[in-house]
Amino acid sequence: MGKFVFGPVPSRRLGFSLGVDVIPSKYCSFDCIYCQIGKTTNKEIIRRSFFDPQEVVKEVIEEVSISKHVDYITFSGSGEPTLNSDIGLMIRELKRKVDIPISVITNGSLLFMKDVRNDLIMADVVLPSLDAVSDDIFRYINRPHSLIDIDAIINGLKDFRKAYQGNVWLEIMLVKDVNDDVEELKKFKNIIDYLNVDKVQLNTVIRPPGEEITGRLGKTELEKICEFFGSKCETICTFEKTVTKGEKEDWAEMVLDILKRRSLSLDDIVKITGLPFQKAKDTLCIMENEGKIKSFHFGESMFYVMN
Ligand code: SF4
Repeated sequence: MGKFVFGPVPSRRLGFSLGVDVIPSKYCSFDCIYCQIGKTTNKEIIRRSFFDPQEVVKEVIEEVSISKHVDYITFSGSGEPTLNSDIGLMIRELKRKVDIPISVITNGSLLFMKDVRNDLIMADVVLPSLDAVSDDIFRYINRPHSLIDIDAIINGLKDFRKAYQGNVWLEIMLVKDVNDDVEELKKFKNIIDYLNVDKVQLNTVIRPPGEEITGRLGKTELEKICEFFGSKCETICTFEKTVTKGEKEDWAEMVLDILKRRSLSLDDIVKITGLPFQKAKDTLCIMENEGKIKSFHFGESMFYVMN
């Protein structure tokens, strides 16, 4: 795999998503308690050009030409992608050269800046997150840069929605006993109506968190909250698509490349590679014995991370 591109990764929201990672690990404006990538080492809000944008675009085009199943090209990865000041240029170039929709997964914290809003305008889908509407809960979950406050984020989301013609799918990561109490949910409902997004997608911690202080909600709890939020709301906890068996010969390398950026469950790996369950499990076991990866149980699933 390349320097910037990883996957396609099975995404609960975007099908097979070819990830484009334009941020060095780990530059982010947040340091969320549930982050899969690890602790934020560079908490920043200053945007900059991290890499040659033409090199990134070239690599995406090459990877698209050899990957048969790509539903979305997705800017995401090792930190907050809008910190890269070339993201608008890269999206525009890809829109001209590739006929695959482009999505951006962002924590939404920089949308109060006009240049960030302009940079995302050509994307087909923007997936911002909003984990709290009360300042104290926001600070607890997202541990933001000191110059960011929740009102600025909500106003930035509102301004973006007004200017942007594409789809906005707002993700709310619910953490048990942190942002799921009735008062916070009522405030969320008001803000959701105010923001006028196309979808609200409820998530909970279902992958192994970097820290042991986060908790997941049960299916029934999520469904109740979903009903309370109304018809635009859905939960995003399953993934159905699979790839053709044997499509990726170099699947071990591909899996390692994804594991550098996020954890994967055994089921995810079976879906990405198209391998039979037992063969995938046996090979992962060999990779673990070689010291390349580590496995552990979380909830009902077996997960893998880089060693
Ligand atoms: S915004 Fe995303 S990358 Fe940044 S700390 Fe939170 S989960 Fe991690």
